[in-house]
Amino acid sequence: MNPNTHRAFVALGSNLHSPERQVLAGFDEIAATPGVDLLARSSLYRTAPVGYDDQPDFINAVAEIRTRLTPAELLDELLAIEASRGRVRDFANAPRTLDLDILIYDDLQLRTDRLTLPHPRAHLRAFVLHPLVEIAPDAVIPGLGPAWHWLAGVRDQDIRRIAEEVTFRLALGSLVGAT
Ligand code: ADP
Ligand code: MG
Repeated sequence: MNPNTHRAFVALGSNLHSPERQVLAGFDEIAATPGVDLLARSSLYRTAPVGYDDQPDFINAVAEIRTRLTPAELLDELLAIEASRGRVRDFANAPRTLDLDILIYDDLQLRTDRLTLPHPRAHLRAFVLHPLVEIAPDAVIPGLGPAWHWLAGVRDQDIRRIAEEVTFRLALGSLVGAT
């Protein structure tokens, strides 16, 4: 990849159609995107839904990438991955097959019609902060400071890291027969 690259973090979330598998497939599709190198994948986390309660729990994770894509190009690629996994936009906070958001792109602060960076709610969500700090303890949210500073503010949010072993079995596709 050419030297003119950028470091970014992408949030993955799903609560439909085998959410663990959706998120693991999301990692793979990000890794397969031209112009994107996947540097790190967080553990999977299980969280209660925010906003609209009457829906299944979410599985969330964060990916660290290096990319030569612009933020707009990266968003296009992520939206294409969402679409390929059958996501239909119904209403705000509705159940979704796969949601991919750009959390951080270098130290960029930006607000356009289709893209706000950093993601405006990143520092308020346990399901973003925990996986982010897991893979990048030094992560800084542009304009808001170190990500770990915000962990205290999300202490009351219900989140559980899924055991490595389960994640590993899912990745192998060998969950059937597991105890
Ligand atoms: P949300 O992720 O907020 O639950 P959606 O996934 O439906 O909602 O996103 C709606 C729109 O949000 C996207 O089409 C995109 O244009 C816009 N958007 C703004 N900022 C971002 C960002 N940082 N990452 C991803 N999408 C963003
Ligand atoms: Mg989104």
